[in-house]
Amino acid sequence: MKKLKAIFLILLIFTLIFGLAYRAFDRVSKTESTEFLFDTYCTVTAYSKDADAAVSAVFDELSRIHSLTNFFDENSDVSKINRAANGEKVKVDPCVINIISKAQEIKLASDGAFDISIAPASMLWKFDENAPTPPTDEQINQALLSVGNSGLTVDVAEMTVSKVLDTAMIDLGGVAKGYAGDVALKILREYGVEAAIVDLGGNILCYGKNPNSKDGKWRIGLQKPFAPTGEYSNTVQLTEGAVVTSGTYQRYFEHEGEVYHHIIDPKTGRPARQSYQSVTVVAESSMEADCLATAVYVLGREQGETLARSRGAEVYFK
Ligand code: AMP
Ligand code: MG
Repeated sequence: MKKLKAIFLILLIFTLIFGLAYRAFDRVSKTESTEFLFDTYCTVTAYSKDADAAVSAVFDELSRIHSLTNFFDENSDVSKINRAANGEKVKVDPCVINIISKAQEIKLASDGAFDISIAPASMLWKFDENAPTPPTDEQINQALLSVGNSGLTVDVAEMTVSKVLDTAMIDLGGVAKGYAGDVALKILREYGVEAAIVDLGGNILCYGKNPNSKDGKWRIGLQKPFAPTGEYSNTVQLTEGAVVTSGTYQRYFEHEGEVYHHIIDPKTGRPARQSYQSVTVVAESSMEADCLATAVYVLGREQGETLARSRGAEVYFK
């Protein structure tokens, strides 16, 4: 009997050791890092061996793109364009050329609902101030004179940008993070990272086999508007691509019982008023999805859905 007990114990120990060793061997290496950029927390998770260099290269590039596109940084390319006089050709980084070119394409496709020349109007809404108040009608009307007809021209060969109005300004807040997401994925792939998920505050991209799910797919929860972070309304399932959300709850203030949010209708210079609180777009590219999410929010359900579908993207309203 004693002998039997000993054999049983030895077998149990072997099973435990082999089980633990198998699990350790089976587990995919993970490198994760978070930094505050683009006014939000950006997290890159790479599932691959030795991905430190890849993740660090991603953050170097994200930080560079942020510096070039930051409206509030006087040394950014965006500030150089905004300070320029009419007709002046401003030499910019190729990444700014890419972003503005895509923005112009979506402006055309969305009948002006997405428009980076929104800056004179969007910057009137001071979301970060203490007890903000809405701008006056006069301020909005004055700003609207420079929105939509800025005459923004991109010369891809010369890498220059010019505008026809001195007062025209651009705001890349609705597209720069999307571009940055696409670049992040490109870098991770170039470094040979097998699978990754990139979360740039509402802009999520993924590719490869998700080691945390049985079927290798990624499941992205869609944030419930105005609910605590992590409370999801539903989940999008995908093998690779981008999931981008534009929501009124992301940046807003309340004044005299009214909520004023950051997605501005270029026709009125005021927050777009819709029956839903967020738009999520699923597409191959996060720059495309970023522009579309903002555009669809402004356009409304019917026109927005038509636009998204015409560009091969899925759209969810919440
Ligand atoms: P998103 O979170 O991608 O919807 O972008 C919203 C940000 O884009 C705002 O905070 C503004 O900086 C800018 N923006 C607001 N309205 C528009 C618009 N109609 N077209 C382009 N950019 C906009
Ligand atoms: Mg956007």
